[in-house]
Amino acid sequence: MILIFLGKPGSGKGTQANLVSKKIKIPVISMGEILRNIEKQKTLLARIVRQRIDKGDLIPDKLAQIILRKRLQKKDCRQGYILDGFPRTLKQARGFKEKIDKVVYVDVSDKTIIKRLSSRLECSCGMVYNLVTNPPRKKGICDRCGKNLRRRKDDEPKTIKKRLQIYKKQTRPLIRFYSQKGILVKVDGEKGIKEIFGNIIGILKGLNNK
Ligand code: AMP
Repeated sequence: MILIFLGKPGSGKGTQANLVSKKIKIPVISMGEILRNIEKQKTLLARIVRQRIDKGDLIPDKLAQIILRKRLQKKDCRQGYILDGFPRTLKQARGFKEKIDKVVYVDVSDKTIIKRLSSRLECSCGMVYNLVTNPPRKKGICDRCGKNLRRRKDDEPKTIKKRLQIYKKQTRPLIRFYSQKGILVKVDGEKGIKEIFGNIIGILKGLNNK
């Protein structure tokens, strides 16, 4: 099964993709996470990626496509996967030739996005928290590994606004693109994490029964 999770930055698509991944046992391939790992290296590529991400810009399509293709060749993707954060442009979408089962669009207002992203904290182990909706048990400390939590550089208010603008210009057209193909489903991302998850699982069950 190949699923794509689509939505604004901070819509909760990553959280939902991870929950669904645990339930149906296929991996989440998060483009943002792959890029944040590349960023940590001491290479020219790392520098290019870091500059783009910190400014809230997308990395070039070609680069995103190559990085993704390489990741999808790994063994764990053989039974299927969930894409989180790819495609993000029409060019990336058109270049992705695999058969997609469903595109789950998590719909959230700008107001909620700004509120959520400015209260998002992450850990270097990959765990993501939200001070309002999903806080860590101990303030500022990761539940999983005990390290200090930090705010992503691109979650600063000015950068959030820019990322939302880029989303509107470059990523939002994908909603139409996939709905014309008849594979887009929309879920209300304003609801609580559990309720949204229940809705998505309901949709996916329907898929299996077809
Ligand atoms: P995310 O964690 O999904 O919000 O991604 C963080 C950042 O990584 C984005 O703001 C972009 O700079 C970059 N990025 C992630 N996915 C893509 C993509 N498919 N194409 C280009 N840039 C991306």
